Amino acid sequence: MAELLRVDNVRASIEEKEILKGINLTINKGEIHVVMGTNGAGKSTLANVIMGNPAYEVTEGSIVFDGENITEEAVNDRAKKGIFMSFQHPISVPGITVENFIRTAKNTITGENVRALAFKKELKAKMEELSFDTSYANRYVNEGFSGGERKKNEILQMSILNPKLAILDETDSGLDVDAVRIVSEGVNRFHNEENAVLIITHHNQILQKLQPNYVHILIDGRIVKTGGPELVREIEEKGYDAYKNLA
Ligand code: ADP
Ligand code: MG
Repeated sequence: MAELLRVDNVRASIEEKEILKGINLTINKGEIHVVMGTNGAGKSTLANVIMGNPAYEVTEGSIVFDGENITEEAVNDRAKKGIFMSFQHPISVPGITVENFIRTAKNTITGENVRALAFKKELKAKMEELSFDTSYANRYVNEGFSGGERKKNEILQMSILNPKLAILDETDSGLDVDAVRIVSEGVNRFHNEENAVLIITHHNQILQKLQPNYVHILIDGRIVKTGGPELVREIEEKGYDAYKNLA
């Protein structure tokens, strides 16, 4: 299988504090990977470091995406190359509608001007797939949205921007079962042999609907164990404590 992402011995810090302590992770096209772990383990840090959030400093190691070393690249260049990240806590953007937000993002990423009418049509179809009230297209991004609506909006962005690598940071936290189902169906519709998904979570809700190829346990800035979907059950039975001595 073709390699899409290779994180090679990455150490990263925030405000001089080392959070990631040598991460190795390879994701091939067509794969779904899950990173699970305790609160504060560094899961969101890993997502941000792959995306290139400048608040985090990579002090060692490298990140290769689609054959190119992107370790020093800016977040917008990574987005153009096909990396997308959904936020654990999506912010609201007063004054910008959902439609304009996503269209602007798409224009920026593709470097083309998508035609307004064609875009409207695509947006409407994707919203319907997600059971996302289409009137929300004209509302300000996340303003007054419920937790479930914010997550649907993230999945909507993903499905329209069509990245090569989608990183979903705790897309399932705080969602009811219906919203989790809609989100995981959205991920399944998006996922194909040419792209890859990295799901970060600390509970197993969303994993009942998605078939990951690999599950990684992240504790104290290190991947302490990698396995298949059976690892999710193992964590459920043993708890994270069982892995702490591996960190
Ligand atoms: P997780 O997503 O696994 O819960 P995070 O990656 O968010 O963990 O956080 C890892 C560690 O980094 C935590 O100790 C957290 O307090 C710290 N941290 C994360 N973001 C910041 C920040 N912006 N400023 C200071 N410390 C941070
Ligand atoms: Mg987090």
